[in-house]
Amino acid sequence: MELDKRVAEIVAKAYAGEAATEEECVYLLGFGEASPEAFAVRAAAASIVRARTDNTAVIFGQIGVECSPCTADCDFCSFAASTTGFEAMRLDDETIVEKIDGFCKDGDLYGLWLMTMHEYDLEYYLHVLKLAREHAPAETNIYTNVGDTSYEDFCKMKEAGASGVYHICRLGEGEHTKLDPEARFQTMENARRAGLAILDAVEPIGPEHTPEQLVEKMFLTKRFHSIQTGSMKRIAVPGTPFADKGEINHFTLSQIVSVQCLALLDMETLPWIGIHEPCEAGYLSGANLISAETGVNPRDTAEDTSASRGLDMDASRRVLFEAGFTHLCKGDGTKVPLTMEYIEGCNR
Ligand code: SF4
Repeated sequence: MELDKRVAEIVAKAYAGEAATEEECVYLLGFGEASPEAFAVRAAAASIVRARTDNTAVIFGQIGVECSPCTADCDFCSFAASTTGFEAMRLDDETIVEKIDGFCKDGDLYGLWLMTMHEYDLEYYLHVLKLAREHAPAETNIYTNVGDTSYEDFCKMKEAGASGVYHICRLGEGEHTKLDPEARFQTMENARRAGLAILDAVEPIGPEHTPEQLVEKMFLTKRFHSIQTGSMKRIAVPGTPFADKGEINHFTLSQIVSVQCLALLDMETLPWIGIHEPCEAGYLSGANLISAETGVNPRDTAEDTSASRGLDMDASRRVLFEAGFTHLCKGDGTKVPLTMEYIEGCNR
C-alpha cells in the first residue's frame, strides 16, 4: 500500500513546520476517514501539536447563565425562538458562584465561558462577569459567549474582567440563522479593538458540509489570530429543523480536526484546539482542549447540561489522561502534571 504522493508531501511539510494551504486542506478532506491518508494526517497532527505543547492539554468550562427564546432563531439550537421548549430563566448569584467554585476549586481550569443569548441584558451580564472575576482564581481566564456586540460594550466587559470572547461566523450563518455574517465579523473586530482575545471554532458541522465550506471556516482562526479554536459537530437537537438531518460521528470529526491542526502550524502561538463532543479519536488527532459544561446549553434540551450532555471537571481530566496527555495548562501558562494521583487528589 502506498500513500498518495501529494498527501505524503503535505505531511512531510507539516513535520518540517509548514502549514497546509487552503487548497491542500480541501484535498486532505477529500480522502475517506478510514483511508491511510486520513490516518497519516491524524498522526502528524497529534504528534506535531503534542511536540509543540509538551504534551499538554487544557480544560475550559462553560456556564449557561441565562436563556430565553432567542431571536437569532438558529435552526440547530435548542433556544431558537420558533422551536424552543425553554422559558426565560436566569441563574441567581448563589448558583453561579456555586458553579464557578465547582469548576475552579482545584485551580486547573484554563478558561471559563459565560454564555447567554444573542440579545442580552448588558448590565446583568457585566454583573455576572464581575462575579466570576471575583470568585475564579487568577489562573482562570474569563471569556464571554454573547451575541453581536459593540466596541464600547466590549470595553466595559474587559473592564469587568473578561480576557476574550468566543465569537464566530458559523457554518450556515445567515441561512440557518437570522444573523448577518458581516455583523458577526464586525463583532470579532470590535472585540479585538477592545483588547480582547478571540476564541472560535468550526461549527456546527453536519454531514452535508463540504471540504471547501469547512476549510473556509478553519482559516478564519488565522485572520483573527485566535488563541483557541476547534471542531464541533452539530447535534440533532429534538424539536429543531435539524432533528432528523443526521450527525457526523467522532471518527469523521477527528479527521476534520486533524486537517485543521495542519492548517494552523504557521501560527506563532498554536491556538488550543478543541473537539466537541469530546472524544478520544479527536485527542489522538491533534485536539488538546476539553470543555466541561453546566447550566443551559444550545445543544441540549436539559436545563442543566451537567446532568445530561455536559462533562464535569473530573470526567474532563480523566478523558485527557486516558488520551495520554501528561500536563494540564492553567490560564496563566503554568502547568500541573496530569497523573492519576493528581486526578484522585482533586476529588478529595
Ligand atoms: S445558537 Fe446562540 S444565537 Fe443561535 S439561537 Fe441559539 S442562543 Fe441564539
